[in-house]
Amino acid sequence: MANYICSVGMEVHAELATKSKMFCRCQVAFGGEPNTRTCPVCLGLPGAMPVPNRVAIEMVIKTSLALNCKIAMNSIFHRKNYFYPDLPKGYQVSQYGEENPLGYHGYLDIPAANGGTKRIGIRRVHLEEDTGKLMHLPSGGSGVDYNRAGTPLMEIVTDFPPDISNGDEAKEYLSQLRQILMYLGVCDGKMEEGSLRCEPNISIRPEGQKELGVKSELKNLNSFRSVQMGIAFEVRRQSAMLDAGQKVLQETRGWNEQKDSSFAMRLKESENDYRYFPCPDLVPMQFSEEYIEGLRSSLPELPLAKFMRYQNDYSLSDYDANLLTSDVEWAQWFEEAIAKGGEPKAICNWMNSEFAKLINEEGIRAQQSKITPDHLVELTKLIADNTISGKIAKQVFLDCYKTGKMPSEVVKASGATQISDDSEIKPIIEAVLAKNPDVVEKFRAGQVSVRGFLVGQIMRESQGRANPGIVNKLLDELLQ
Ligand SMILES: [Zn+2]
Repeated sequence: MANYICSVGMEVHAELATKSKMFCRCQVAFGGEPNTRTCPVCLGLPGAMPVPNRVAIEMVIKTSLALNCKIAMNSIFHRKNYFYPDLPKGYQVSQYGEENPLGYHGYLDIPAANGGTKRIGIRRVHLEEDTGKLMHLPSGGSGVDYNRAGTPLMEIVTDFPPDISNGDEAKEYLSQLRQILMYLGVCDGKMEEGSLRCEPNISIRPEGQKELGVKSELKNLNSFRSVQMGIAFEVRRQSAMLDAGQKVLQETRGWNEQKDSSFAMRLKESENDYRYFPCPDLVPMQFSEEYIEGLRSSLPELPLAKFMRYQNDYSLSDYDANLLTSDVEWAQWFEEAIAKGGEPKAICNWMNSEFAKLINEEGIRAQQSKITPDHLVELTKLIADNTISGKIAKQVFLDCYKTGKMPSEVVKASGATQISDDSEIKPIIEAVLAKNPDVVEKFRAGQVSVRGFLVGQIMRESQGRANPGIVNKLLDELLQ
């Protein structure tokens, strides 16, 4: 059996988060009664004239800049001609050519397996319009819903030959790309609703061979997991075929999530001829340097840069920085707490454990909860100055979460402040030792493991309020 090298090209479609469609004023939304968000323009009725959505164009340029692309200062729309019932006009407005797409020849750096970064070349970022949706009716037969037809769609295609060489890298690329789109606010990133769709093409070739192998394209991948699993499956399937002396066919394959396997959909013997030509209804686009530079300077700090900064400036681990930056709102929440004087590591720990747990259970976002950055800043300060123990803080936090009260209020009302006074703690320890003479005996006989039991009893007697540091110190003294 030969060793194979895998190459993965990625085509990602992102529905843009605009209010209205690409060439008309119909609303962009998910679901709803079929064919209720349509008009003569997006239904392709004769004589209807399209007007480009300026916000959509801006979103694609911003994405292109974030992906380090060159910008086509003069760019046009083309018609891509083909017939399919979900395409009412008989053509899709798209962008053709090497240097005509709004963005071209860029790259995206992804975290690499060895700890550094790997650069993934991007060939183009272009703007087009989405199609309608075919649906099978419960009564039999099929229908078409044109609500989605004409939604602005951005296509991001990686370079050729591909830089991605396995399913893990593909997943990482998609995850980074999705974060960027969400940081820019240009796409909601919902793979399960189809607003972010990914179609990887996969080929393998024996080690030492320069020329790429025959590729298959995968469809119906609606989660990160399915992208990763789907590519891994294709590599195994193609390897087995080559090992058996068979030929890999150039085809489009669907992914079956339940069975964790792919199935043949259609053969692709040659590229379709779409007879692209410039759309005569749409005027060419022209951009000035000032306009582009204005957009460039409006870009927010991007996920990878934020991730690195959190590690450098706040000494956070890979894991922590990744959790914080994976969601732009979550990162903003963290930064607000730091700006209000929170200690980064302490804030991060509370966010990624207790706070994340509570909002995930409820299925809400941080901003929808009653906890504000002020709450966590105050709580972590109460712990740091020994007013409350870490254990009590969890209960206080839960109260704040439920009521929205500030931690200091909750602590005051409950009298749950930490006891750090030797003269208050000593009698509690003495009482516990008196109650457990056998355990004390064991400890003195050298069985030091029983010490934990005694600490537990002391903490229980003090209702968790005794300062653990002082308990440990006094206990050692009394046991000697
Ligand atoms: Zn419309």
